[in-house]
Amino acid sequence: MSILPQHHHLQHAAVIGRHHPHRNRHIYCTAITPAKTNLKLHKLAINTTPPITPPKLDDPSLKSTCIQRAWVATGCTSVLISLANSIIGSIDSHIWLEPILSGFVGYLFADLGSGVYHWGIDNYGDSSTPVFGSQIEAFQGHHKWPWIITKRQFANNLHALARVITYIVLPIDLIGHDQPVLMGFVGMASGCIMFSQQFHARAHGTKSKLPPIVVALQDAGVLVSRSQHLDHHRPPYKNNYCIVSGVWNRFLDDHRVFEALEMVVFLKLGLRPRSWSEPNSDWTKEAEDSPTTTSPP
Ligand SMILES: [Zn+2]
Ligand SMILES: [Zn+2]
Repeated sequence: MSILPQHHHLQHAAVIGRHHPHRNRHIYCTAITPAKTNLKLHKLAINTTPPITPPKLDDPSLKSTCIQRAWVATGCTSVLISLANSIIGSIDSHIWLEPILSGFVGYLFADLGSGVYHWGIDNYGDSSTPVFGSQIEAFQGHHKWPWIITKRQFANNLHALARVITYIVLPIDLIGHDQPVLMGFVGMASGCIMFSQQFHARAHGTKSKLPPIVVALQDAGVLVSRSQHLDHHRPPYKNNYCIVSGVWNRFLDDHRVFEALEMVVFLKLGLRPRSWSEPNSDWTKEAEDSPTTTSPP
């Protein structure tokens, strides 16, 4: 995991170079060391990675594949099994308030979880980070070209979370099927987490093009609002991380919770979050009509 912000300077290039030696060429040049004033050869890595460009509007990478649809189907099935178990268990045991409350807590938990995960992905690691590398790269691309999320097909946008939900929730469904309170929490939390990317995509939508029910839910604060999420894509690029309902955003930002976490991570692990060095060109939005983002005629 890189401990440096993603600047395109030599220091960062050297770090990247350790992870992607094939992307870099190595040159020898002269530099003055602090200890000695004599010239000494240093091996420096110059990052020659070509500038990342967004996919074209008709790019196949924005379309859903059969495998992605299958993962979304298994994810939805896992969530529905949880909810069905909760309803069946509630009928059998004649309890209703507790499963409904636990479902509401699951909805709140999902928003908080989406914020913590989004904060971590936005601020730490790079494309070479194990497990999370592709997510980190995707979110960096999202900050550069936020509008692309609205062009992605449904399963293309949700399949990564759906796969994780399937792996985690199906075993819980099997073990805790007779626990209606647990099943209510798991069903609502996992469902909202899986659909958080869809809510996120809707937050980038244009009001006039969104279904009226979605606009109503956004305006009511049930789903993360367009204005709230837009602030995440504006300087200083370090707030409004939650993307389910956004209900936690004001509390987390007013109390500087993530800034406190960043200090803890820095003091304990020496890792600097990207937000300490923003804004830089990596986070600056490119307009949708940028010459690099439009399809060829
Ligand atoms: Zn972000
Ligand atoms: Zn966004």
